Amino acid sequence: MKRNPRRAYDKDGREIQPATVASQMMLGRHQVEIYCNACRHYRGGIDVSDLPPETTIPDICLRYRCSACGSKNLMSRGDTHEHYELIDAARKGTK
Ligand SMILES: [Zn+2]
Repeated sequence: MKRNPRRAYDKDGREIQPATVASQMMLGRHQVEIYCNACRHYRGGIDVSDLPPETTIPDICLRYRCSACGSKNLMSRGDTHEHYELIDAARKGTK
């Protein structure tokens, strides 16, 4: 069975359902970050609210090309800064 490099698999080789724009929004998250695997260029804070809700987070990188080296070998995931801001806000009870 061919594995998709943008998916995670459990120990039995079953594909783990990736996060989607909809599932992220339900957690109050609207941003992703993208890493370039070729030159390690990083871009965070990309707003995904306008994308179709079923869009999978690991596939958002397919829409982009690295602005530094032009590579399409990218990786996308939920924005970590936004993630920690939300945790921080929850701890302070402001959200
Ligand atoms: Zn790059």
